[in-house]
Amino acid sequence: MGQITLEKVTKSFGEVEVIPPLDLTIEDGEFCVFVGPSGCGKSTLLRLIAGLEDITSGAVRIDGQDASDTPPAKRGLAMVFQSYALYPHMSVRKNIAFPMRMAGIPAEEQTRRIDAAAKALNLTDYLDRRPGQLSGGQRQRVAIGRAIVREPAAFLFDEPLSNLDAALRVGMRLEISELHERLKTTMIYVTHDQVEAMTMADKIVVLRAGRIEQVGSPLELYRAPRNLFVAGFIGSPR
Ligand code: ADP
Ligand code: MG
Repeated sequence: MGQITLEKVTKSFGEVEVIPPLDLTIEDGEFCVFVGPSGCGKSTLLRLIAGLEDITSGAVRIDGQDASDTPPAKRGLAMVFQSYALYPHMSVRKNIAFPMRMAGIPAEEQTRRIDAAAKALNLTDYLDRRPGQLSGGQRQRVAIGRAIVREPAAFLFDEPLSNLDAALRVGMRLEISELHERLKTTMIYVTHDQVEAMTMADKIVVLRAGRIEQVGSPLELYRAPRNLFVAGFIGSPR
């Protein structure tokens, strides 16, 4: 229940068109990575899917339904940001519970989901701490936990690991991949890191200046990059 389709989607800020007409389908359950240099429109595209920005024209469909005018909270998607955006004065438990409280989910169900997410993310012993008492990796897990408990149709990650040091990044990359294996929920993952793209993705979308240069599996892009830009970005020997 998490197919996402962009149909001739465009986005302009004032006079500047940052996304020219773009078509893309992300299949239910797919791990799709948007990769490309800084400023190419990755975050904008994610925000258009999330509904945090309005599309200028075209349509965003979720499971075939036109969601272009659906407010973010009603799209059933969960965004995980790079800045942890946790509430510093709240415990981990309360941070994770927050979106469920907003959605009016009964307390017992909240507890059940929090315990399951904490177990999945190795946060069980940290539920009563505050974000300031956690490591960077643990804080990022709390942010992911807060997304999991919403049981979204898709997760949208915007460079979630870019604030972590290299060693931690490798571990978190594996954790997110394992999470995808377990949940089998659609994930869209934005990064400018080729290694993340190549190791995590079912499907990679290579972007340049708001346009799709190529879409394919890591192996397809590695073996048959369409042009030098893609080859350079993917690190293919061509
Ligand atoms: P990326 O995430 O790939 O680094 P962005 O999606 O943040 O790229 O930005 C794509 C382009 O859109 C950039 O040229 C950026 O300056 C522009 N842009 C993004 N958000 C806004 C905004 N709110 N107003 C004006 N221009 C924006
Ligand atoms: Mg960005």
